[in-house]
Amino acid sequence: MAHWSRRMPSSLLTEVSNARRIAGIGPALKEKLARLGLRTDDDLVLHFPLRYEDETYITPLAEAQPGVAAQFEVEVISTEIAFRPRRQLISRVRDVAESSSELMLRFLNFYPSQQKMLAQGARLRVYGEVRRGFFGDEIVHPRCTPVRDGIPLPASLTPVYPTTAGLGQGILRRHIEAALARTELIDTLPRALVVQQELLEFSIAVDLLHHPPPALSVDAIQRVTRLAWQRVRFDELVAQQISMRRAYAARRTCGAPLISSDGRLTNALLKQLPFTLTAAQQRVWREIAADLAQPHPMQRLLQGDVGSGKTIVAALAMLQTVEAGYQSALMAPTEILAEQHYRKLAAWMEPLGQRIAWLSGSQKKRERTTLTAALANREIMMAVGTHALLEDDVSFSRFGLAIVDEQHRFGVHQRLALKRKGEAPHQLTMSATPIPRTLAMTFYADLDVSVIDALPPGRTPVTTRLAAETRRAEVIARVRDNCLAGRQAYWVCPLIEESETLQLKTAEETYAQLLADLPGLRIGLVHGRLKPAEKAAVMASFVRNEVQVLVATTVIEVGVDVPNASVMVIENAERFGLAQLHQLRGRVGRGAAESACVLLYGGALSETARQRLKIIYENSDGFEIARQDLALRGPGEFIGARQSGVPLLRYANLDDTELVERARDAAELLLRDHPELAERHLQRWLGGREDLLKA
Ligand code: ADP
Ligand code: MG
Repeated sequence: MAHWSRRMPSSLLTEVSNARRIAGIGPALKEKLARLGLRTDDDLVLHFPLRYEDETYITPLAEAQPGVAAQFEVEVISTEIAFRPRRQLISRVRDVAESSSELMLRFLNFYPSQQKMLAQGARLRVYGEVRRGFFGDEIVHPRCTPVRDGIPLPASLTPVYPTTAGLGQGILRRHIEAALARTELIDTLPRALVVQQELLEFSIAVDLLHHPPPALSVDAIQRVTRLAWQRVRFDELVAQQISMRRAYAARRTCGAPLISSDGRLTNALLKQLPFTLTAAQQRVWREIAADLAQPHPMQRLLQGDVGSGKTIVAALAMLQTVEAGYQSALMAPTEILAEQHYRKLAAWMEPLGQRIAWLSGSQKKRERTTLTAALANREIMMAVGTHALLEDDVSFSRFGLAIVDEQHRFGVHQRLALKRKGEAPHQLTMSATPIPRTLAMTFYADLDVSVIDALPPGRTPVTTRLAAETRRAEVIARVRDNCLAGRQAYWVCPLIEESETLQLKTAEETYAQLLADLPGLRIGLVHGRLKPAEKAAVMASFVRNEVQVLVATTVIEVGVDVPNASVMVIENAERFGLAQLHQLRGRVGRGAAESACVLLYGGALSETARQRLKIIYENSDGFEIARQDLALRGPGEFIGARQSGVPLLRYANLDDTELVERARDAAELLLRDHPELAERHLQRWLGGREDLLKA
């Protein structure tokens, strides 16, 4: 692994990328190319056509078919600027070979140069789709090239490149050709690998995509270029894997606090717990403890399904940090969750003589000042809070560990901001939203991942029921029975994304209605507009079973832990996403009682809503749900959580698990046995974008 960290000196990198900057272009063109992400010759070489057009053949105008793109050879009869009602350029043209067929060319935006090219008597080849317009057959914005004698028709299809406003295909193609001529298309994958993986050679693949062989039809080219695209996608994935691995390796070269311990506090905590850690918890705890004792910063993601017991693992990590004389912070996305963590951690830590600072946005200034002072001078070693932890007045004197709970709820910048409270602290992020496999292998390849893959014993699985809105009365009866038996229930109100006000109104109405329907039961209401202190008060009475039915908006989605709650009703469940439904359902089934989640749905369901409900009904494993969710929605949303810092894929598709796996192995091979090829490969695909490698 050591040579993964072997990096080119940055001066050399700059030199290389400068040398490959596109030659002979002015600032205006340079800017346009940059808009397409094209800065180097390699970028141009890797700028592949979206599709191909057939200019090898001239279609007689009389045979033009509406809606089918074709090329015609015409002579201009007249050209004028008309106002219909917008200013536009209109040309009447006729077929060169058969002058009785006429056509209009219409340009809504045009340059004087185009007007000149369309002068009366000019001969042109025009390419485009003929439409039956109000004034006769026309092509809007045809591509036109003057016909000069002696220039034959092209022998092969014409590539059409992705472009940007004001950058014509002709100019773009010329610069791509020039870059191809200047660039040596060496294969950055070792020959043996290319053969073994049954890939096309790089130069052949590139050539095929830019220069389709002659006499191919538009249909045939798709079959022929399939292998070329495969090679391109493979190479792109390999580059991405190399960059992630190098980011990982680079982190391992920077120093971090050594947090090894004698186990004094952690063992005391384990002894005092009312339960023993599951085998899965012990395993991930060992992984984390070992990371903390390393001289470089941990960057670990702790995944575990809802209710799998991640908090205790975080607490152990914080205590080990204390033992080594360093401070730590745990950040959670909502006040409710942060407060609950605080209460739980305080109950665990205080018997051990350890204080915890709780920081939230709603705190009194005096209290906050006292706490921040205590953190600054190391009187207090641990902090828990919301993003209030990120404020400037919060500083630590020896910050060793940053923990982020429900990491997908935070932006990249917030996660970085917590890390910046120290020099190079260890980082632990926790998530109940499992990352599907292909994403873990690509966009998360620079993280170490620990998985708690089993729930603590003694949980009874949650039964999921689907019920149409019309069966509301039955559902209410069930909630009543449950509460009369001494247990508690959540009633989650519909998610109304368009309007927070409407959502609040619905919650208040539901609350009033349930008060009427469930006489004698103690009902509480919690929603996002409550002041944090009010929210906390309602939650606290729910925890003490003073409130039996908690009517809530989605504020309870994450992390809330009340083991006595055994029924969860979700209204208009069809409006929720799968991850959300799974999170919500995970709020019950935390105690020994038989638990149920009732998904009430209203009205006609869309096809995806029906699919989502089916998936949540049939599955209880969060990983499986995430996998099916990815299949349903595509990877965009999952990647959204990470956004910056990750070079995006232009050509490769994450549905192709097998290709991702092969690329990962290839990247490993390159880094291990062919570091100079790995370097060139990365240059080719990410040249000039080294900044993206800093994760
Ligand atoms: P999550 O992984 O969703 O954050 P929590 O850390 O909130 O889950 O744990 C859920 C509940 O399970 C808590 O009440 C916690 O104290 C309890 N718990 C954690 N580990 C165990 C265990 N090994 N045995 C029994 N209960 C446990
Ligand atoms: Mg949690």
